[in-house]
Amino acid sequence: MAQNRIGIHAGVWGFDWSPAAADRVISSAASLGYDLIEIPAIDPGRHSAVDTRASLRRHGLESTVSLALTTADDITSADGSIVARGERRLLDAVRFAADIGARFVGGVVYSAMGRYSAPASAEGRDGSLAVLRRVAVAAAADGITLGVEYVNRYESNLLNTAGQTLDFLDELDAPNAVLHLDTFHAHVEEADITDPVTLAGDRLGYIHASESHRGPLGTGSLDWPRLTRALVTEGYRGDITVETFSSAMLTDDETADIGVWRRLWDDPDRLAAHSLDFLRRQLHEASVVPTSAPLVGSDH
Ligand code: MN
Repeated sequence: MAQNRIGIHAGVWGFDWSPAAADRVISSAASLGYDLIEIPAIDPGRHSAVDTRASLRRHGLESTVSLALTTADDITSADGSIVARGERRLLDAVRFAADIGARFVGGVVYSAMGRYSAPASAEGRDGSLAVLRRVAVAAAADGITLGVEYVNRYESNLLNTAGQTLDFLDELDAPNAVLHLDTFHAHVEEADITDPVTLAGDRLGYIHASESHRGPLGTGSLDWPRLTRALVTEGYRGDITVETFSSAMLTDDETADIGVWRRLWDDPDRLAAHSLDFLRRQLHEASVVPTSAPLVGSDH
């Protein structure tokens, strides 16, 4: 199969995006052999996209952008000023992506990332769709794809499965919007880890490769051989980005935001090297095993 671009989330090395720290992270990902780095959308009031763009060019690395809305900028809110802040943040993320040459903005772009205390309302869902239609149009003008990443029940009340997300995308009706699959969340919510792949087909546009406990790939209960076989069978050609965090690299505030209360690993460079090797190996093995082969020997 044609090779997927393999990426890694910059947060593996922590969330300091000052120019020198960002350059070190980009340099590490590039020298380990990654194709791209996923960069959390920066606050344009704090950092300049110019430095990020220069580092990416210097190290020959491509990029994608992600973000997660919060209760302060939740576009499902009944409070118009909170919704407006969310739309501003999404449009800023699109602008940042365009400024650094990224062609993808994904993540929890449709609600806050956090535990809700009530079901999603029809009005909140409609409000989210209305904002995302405008954001998708702005993104399309820059050739940017918008990824809608469903998450587990403790991190949003709106989209928890691929089925819900595909319905949401149908209503969004934006040609540049795709399903963004995170295998950690899918492992929690789907009946089978291959369901989102087969259900989405060519509407699957981006993947976070994340273990069942968000630790090093291959050390949890996620069924990687079946997942990668499904990707090969469906002809998935999109990006696959490693997402794992460890409290070893995070401040206390960042630990709380993500809910990573444990040291799941200690050395980000070792973790990153292992992850790339693991994913390439899984994809290779999935592509060389004939998908129609019987599981036991046949007599003809
Ligand atoms: Mn994710």
